[in-house]
Amino acid sequence: MPRIAIIGAGIAGATLAHRLTASGFTVDLFEKSRGTGGRLASTRLGQFSADLGAPYLDGCSSEFERFLNGFIEMGVVETWSTTGSDFSLTQHHPIDYKVGVGRNSLFTRELLKGATLHTETRIGVVWSDKQGVLIRDDQGELIDYFDAVVVAAPAPQAVPLLETSPRFAHRAEQAATSANWVALFQLDQRPSRLEGVSVIDGEHPDFYRIIVESDKPGRDGVLIRVEMREYWSESHIDDDRELLLQTIQEMLSDWLGESLDPTASKIHRWLYSRTLQSAQLTEPLWDAELSIGACGDWINEPGLEGAWKSANELADVIIDSFNAAGTLA
Ligand SMILES: Cc1cc2nc3c(=O)[nH]c(=O)nc-3n(C[C@H](O)[C@H](O)[C@H](O)COP(=O)(O)OP(=O)(O)OC[C@H]3O[C@@H](n4cnc5c(N)ncnc54)[C@H](O)[C@@H]3O)c2cc1C
Repeated sequence: MPRIAIIGAGIAGATLAHRLTASGFTVDLFEKSRGTGGRLASTRLGQFSADLGAPYLDGCSSEFERFLNGFIEMGVVETWSTTGSDFSLTQHHPIDYKVGVGRNSLFTRELLKGATLHTETRIGVVWSDKQGVLIRDDQGELIDYFDAVVVAAPAPQAVPLLETSPRFAHRAEQAATSANWVALFQLDQRPSRLEGVSVIDGEHPDFYRIIVESDKPGRDGVLIRVEMREYWSESHIDDDRELLLQTIQEMLSDWLGESLDPTASKIHRWLYSRTLQSAQLTEPLWDAELSIGACGDWINEPGLEGAWKSANELADVIIDSFNAAGTLA
């Protein structure tokens, strides 16, 4: 059975692992963080879970919808029927989102069930030679040789890993990403301004989105998530975390019109939060000679669905390529 290494356990890497294991490949997935999900990661705050990356599994194509519906049937994803508003809070509207049961990262865990997952393993080198494709960790230690390696990291982190294929590295360099600060506040009581509304987005100079995370199905407590705007985040990119958390808490208190006294709080900096400009590639990045590929939200379509699509398109090409070589039983 062909052995494939995938670098990155975000939705792209996890989807690719899911497709390849289902087609008979042996998949090893290497992730530098402690958990899975990448920019779909979740975290704990006190005794509660909260989504720290993309807050919901949104997409628009019927294919993505069908794919997610399969996970609803499995009890891994569920529909969150809730109420949204703009920042004026004058007009509430009903909205439906798909979210992971309990937390979004559970969804990537499920996708990875057939693969061997190596967390807290940062890959430093991918190199193709006569014996296959080798990977080394960031200390230079040889991990192993594989029949193929796929880089499923955000574009800036993919560039050094694609060194063996300068053409691919150059493509990754063409993508542009933005940074983003996300803060979480656990409260004893729901602020009165947030009564009857769970998702606030739209026009605001500093806030991008405010979500009452604890309103998601099966979540407890009162947990507010604040996503700052890109320009605000970029202008505070290297600021002290504790001071920033305090600043965001004060901004939120001002907007809510009441002083907040969180029982727990947390801040996270996403250096490569969203892909603003993809490499606009209409074909999957796969080099059959080197046995190296890449997928993710920077290939063609930004966002969760774009990452998912790029992994599926790459899976089709890899499966065809190994089938044609007669190495897939
Ligand atoms: C706060 C926030 C809100 C968002 N909101 C939305 C939204 O509303 N709608 C939407 O469509 N999208 C949204 N996005 C973007 C969406 O989350 C991403 O486009 C998508 O998750 C990207 O998936 P991916 O698999 O391509 O990359 P990632 O999820 O980034 O996965 C890549 C993984 O590779 C790992 N990695 C990197 N380098 C290495 C290495 N050297 N060795 C090992 N592992 C490595 C990383 O740790 C990461 O886990 C949001 C993102 C953030 C952060």
